[in-house]
Amino acid sequence: MPELPEVEITRLGLTPHLQGERIRTAIVRNRQLRWPVPRKLAELVAGRQIRRLERRSKYLLLDCGGAWLIYHLGMSGSLRVVPADTPPGTHDHVDVVLVNGNALRLHDPRRFGAVLWEPGDPSRQKLLHGLAPEPLENEFSADWLFERTRGRKAPIKNVLMDNHLVCGVGNIYANESLFRAGIHPARAAGRVAQPRYARLVDEIRATLRAAIEAGGSTLRDFVHADGSPGYFQQQYFVYGRAGEKCLRCETPIKTVRIGQRSAFYCPRCQR
Ligand SMILES: [Zn+2]
Repeated sequence: MPELPEVEITRLGLTPHLQGERIRTAIVRNRQLRWPVPRKLAELVAGRQIRRLERRSKYLLLDCGGAWLIYHLGMSGSLRVVPADTPPGTHDHVDVVLVNGNALRLHDPRRFGAVLWEPGDPSRQKLLHGLAPEPLENEFSADWLFERTRGRKAPIKNVLMDNHLVCGVGNIYANESLFRAGIHPARAAGRVAQPRYARLVDEIRATLRAAIEAGGSTLRDFVHADGSPGYFQQQYFVYGRAGEKCLRCETPIKTVRIGQRSAFYCPRCQR
C-alpha cells in the first residue's frame, strides 16, 4: 500500500513532467473508484495550467490555478506520465491529457484510489480539513505528542497511526519508528515519558526520510510505460520479520495484533 514516502516520491517524480504544463482534457474510463470521479472532469480541467504539485498526508494535490486536482492512491494506485496515445491497460482508469502530448495516467487494480476536484481552497475539502500536523514539519513535535497523550491508555502504536495526532505514519513506519526508538508498540501512550517522545519524533522523521531517499532510485520510473510504478523495497528492522533475528540483538522478532493491525517488535530492544 502506498504510504507517505511513496506519495512523496510520486510527487517528486512527477513534478518535472507536470509543473507548468497545460491540460487539454481528461479521459475517465471508470468512474467507480473509492469515490466517484467527477462526471465533468474533462470540462473542469481543460485549459488549466498545472502550477505545482503538493502533498498533504497521503493526498497528492495538483494546483491548477486556484482549483485543485486531488489524487489518493488507495491500496494499489500508481501514477505515471506516458505518451497520451499509449494504449490503456485494464486498470488504467483516468488520464489527464496534457497539451504537450503526454498524459498523467492513474493505474489502480483495486480501485480504492480517488480523483477529486476542489474548486477553491483545498483545506476546505472535507477529506483534507482538520488533518493533523505533517510528521516532517515542525508543528509535529515531542511536546505536541506528549501533551496530547497524557492519561491515554491506548497503545502508542495506535496513537502514531491516529490521523488526528499526526498524519501519514502508516503501519510500516509506525512499527519501524518504535523499534528505532526502543519503545514497545503496546505500551500505553500516556506512559511514555517526554524524553522518549523526543527520541520517537526524531526516529519517525529519520525513518520517513530514509524511505524517501530509498525511493529516489525510482524517480525515473515515472515516465516509463512499463516496469514498476515507483515503489521500492526496503530493508526493515521489524516489519514483516516475525520469527527472524533482531538486527541489533539477534532475539527473534515477535508479532502481535494491536487494534486491527499487526505489530512487529523486538522483545529485548523495545520496552
Ligand atoms: Zn533486539
